Amino acid sequence: MKAGIHPEYKEAVVSCACGNTFTTGSVKDELKVEICSECHPFYTGKQKFAERGGRIERFNNKYGRK
Ligand SMILES: [Zn+2]
Repeated sequence: MKAGIHPEYKEAVVSCACGNTFTTGSVKDELKVEICSECHPFYTGKQKFAERGGRIERFNNKYGRK
């Protein structure tokens, strides 16, 4: 197998909009997500987004999303 033709699969730091970070396997160094297992209502059973007051909006503004 030739070197350099396959992306390197490595540990990536995932940053969630809720402030949580964790690592996962990826070809990228870091990933940004808007929801994760720590803040998704499906996992937490409650809506943290409402309590955290506009973190998504600030996150989106910070990274230039509309
Ligand atoms: Zn999260």
